[in-house]
Amino acid sequence: MVVLDGKLTSSIIRQELAEKVKSLKSAGKKVPHLAAILVGEDGASKTYVNAKVRDCEEVGFGSTLIKLPSETTEKELLKAIAKLNKDEDVDGYIVQLPLPDHINETNILLAVDPKKDVDGFHPENVGKMTLNLPTYVPATPQGIVELLRRYDVPTDGKNCVVIGRSHIVGSPMSILLSQHNYPGNCTVTLCHSGTRDLKEICQKADIIVAALGRPAFVKADMVKQGACIIDVGITRVEDPSKKSGFRLLGDVDYEAVAHKCSFITPVPGGVGPMTRAALMMNTMRVTELSE
Ligand code: NAP
Repeated sequence: MVVLDGKLTSSIIRQELAEKVKSLKSAGKKVPHLAAILVGEDGASKTYVNAKVRDCEEVGFGSTLIKLPSETTEKELLKAIAKLNKDEDVDGYIVQLPLPDHINETNILLAVDPKKDVDGFHPENVGKMTLNLPTYVPATPQGIVELLRRYDVPTDGKNCVVIGRSHIVGSPMSILLSQHNYPGNCTVTLCHSGTRDLKEICQKADIIVAALGRPAFVKADMVKQGACIIDVGITRVEDPSKKSGFRLLGDVDYEAVAHKCSFITPVPGGVGPMTRAALMMNTMRVTELSE
């Protein structure tokens, strides 16, 4: 069994990006600049955004963090977005989700300039991804694909089950793995809360991508011997023994499942760090895609 080490792989990617930044600088070219908008005080969102800013600093990108109070109106947020769309120094930006309930997420995503949409959530970019055209692919599926590539995980002709059909993880993951690419060319089954006989479907899978947000949902009796398991789930559960006061649980019962697998991602240290690395990779591609 091989542990797909997202922490190690993402640090290698950051080193590679730092080298590219050095080359851009020495060629007198512009270094990518990533901005992030954070609305409100959600603890997890703050942690994610701060980590993205730290990643930018590490690889040498420019970064801007725009913090807005939770009572920010949709109109005010749209104004901040319009400003970033016009700002020539900012190459790409993200609006950290989730947004407060009084803001319509779709209106916000539609307002982002697709050329600066490094999260790949704008319909124009989703459409391009679906057609296998060059674009920004949402960071989590992109990070998973990169991890599979770097560990040479066989995917060609494999049966892949994706559990969860969200727009940011499950749905794009199912599209990418069914495309005629490597990693990809799988026969994909996309499952959700309405799926019947999920256990039997999973038992036939060579690859399972668990992205449903239910801790330890994937049990050993759902997993075929030799399967590759990608655990996307991150659920925070209280743990007074931790400095942070919580620990992270994945969607896979790791201890019970790991010994049956050919490859498996841990939580933490698997898909999470790869998601951050993929956002940095997308930001590096800004110039390439605009050309
Ligand atoms: P989401 O929007 O809540 O979607 C969950 C999906 O799981 C839905 O499609 C839902 O089905 C399906 N589902 C729920 N219960 C199910 C069940 N019992 N059987 C089968 N399907 C079920 O979640 P998300 O944003 O995709 O995130 C999923 C998990 O990944 C969360 O733990 C999240 O924190 C984590 N995540 C991690 C990263 C990372 O970087 N590691 C990034 C993003 C998200 P319906 O559509 O029928 O409701």
